[in-house]
Amino acid sequence: MTDIRKETLVIVGSGPAAWTAAVYAARAELEPLVYEGSFSRTMIPGGQLMFTTEIENYPGFPEGVTGQQMMADFKAQAERFGTRVITEDIVRVDFTDRPFRLWSGAGEEIEARAVILATGANARWIGLENEERLAQSGGGVSACAVCDGALPFFRDRVIAVVGGGDSALEDALYMTKFASEVVVIHRRDELRASKIMQQRAFDNEKIRIDWNTVVTDVLGDDEITGVKLKDTVTGDERQMEVGGLFVAIGHTPNTAFLTDQVALKDNGYVAAPVPWRTVTSVQGVFAAGDVMDDYYRQAVTAAGTGCMAALEAERWLAHGEDHG
Ligand code: FAD
Ligand code: NAP
Repeated sequence: MTDIRKETLVIVGSGPAAWTAAVYAARAELEPLVYEGSFSRTMIPGGQLMFTTEIENYPGFPEGVTGQQMMADFKAQAERFGTRVITEDIVRVDFTDRPFRLWSGAGEEIEARAVILATGANARWIGLENEERLAQSGGGVSACAVCDGALPFFRDRVIAVVGGGDSALEDALYMTKFASEVVVIHRRDELRASKIMQQRAFDNEKIRIDWNTVVTDVLGDDEITGVKLKDTVTGDERQMEVGGLFVAIGHTPNTAFLTDQVALKDNGYVAAPVPWRTVTSVQGVFAAGDVMDDYYRQAVTAAGTGCMAALEAERWLAHGEDHG
């Protein structure tokens, strides 16, 4: 029989929420164990900020900071106070009884008196067969401009970026460094992105926005050659030659491993039954960051709720555990 690991507090995830929770929990001598996730095509330990360049809106960095540097520093700060880290996913949980039980991707079973869920969110795809095929084969379709955009493949070509949020405009602006032209394809006539990002995109002469437009197919055998587009107002269809497609249409919360164990909202995010708290439907299980926040979705708010979750876990372990 394999040994069962017995822990006080397990934190699942590795973005700003998880590391902030770990800093607070470690300083409170809860000896937290962080499962930071494994490396895959869509997720890497460190979370979403590992896929971005400069972070300009996190207080305390007047000159900005790269996402990778920020997450390395977050992790180092958590480890400085004794946080232990395992580079594995949590793939299954049982919250029906206490202590809670969790299973890692390596098959390890863990018992925990309290759990903080901070697994964040993941990039969404349009859902076209050729989009998936060319994304998997490295044929010029990607959901991460910062990861792939500098490849020689995309140089001096017309690049399409799908979406109308901050990610789409950030990707579009990033790609202007390499592309001859960047066409933002947005399904509405108004962007969702923040005003400052919109202004930067409007001011950049390499960026064009095709409004009221959706991608209906991706063309090309081994490499992308173009996209089929449809006007959402007139229904008119056309083709556009492109040398790359970046999909930036939002994210899905990483909650699949929680099935039936904690209440989720209709959109899949962990439900927070008490406003301004990080408690979930299960006492002793807390949620922080983008996995429970479908509204703000910022590094600083993720860190803030990570702090809240650690403080709530600490109080619950000290006072609440015996009372229901
Ligand atoms: P995430 O950063 O989503 O990280 C969670 C991580 O946990 C996952 O990536 C994975 O490694 C791990 N994980 C997932 N499932 C499991 C599991 N089952 N077991 C173990 N580990 C798991 N916000 C800003 O404030 N400023 C910006 O400039 C900014 N730029 C952005 C640029 C891009 C391209 C994107 C996509 C987002 C950006 N954001 C920005 C938003 C910001 O990245 C998120 O709000 C923030 O990272 C959320 O942090 P989090 O802690 O909730 O989790
Ligand atoms: P988002 O804000 O949810 O925007 C997603 C965009 O994709 C929307 O414009 C949406 O259209 C469009 N879309 C969704 N599904 C689509 C589909 N199937 N086909 C075509 N278009 C589709 O996501 P995000 O841009 O990734 O941003 C997520 C969070 O991170 C936000 O809070 C954002 O502020 C933050 N972020 C911040 C920065 C920054 O501050 N620099 C950078 C990146 C991200 P509709 O508008 O019609 O819904």
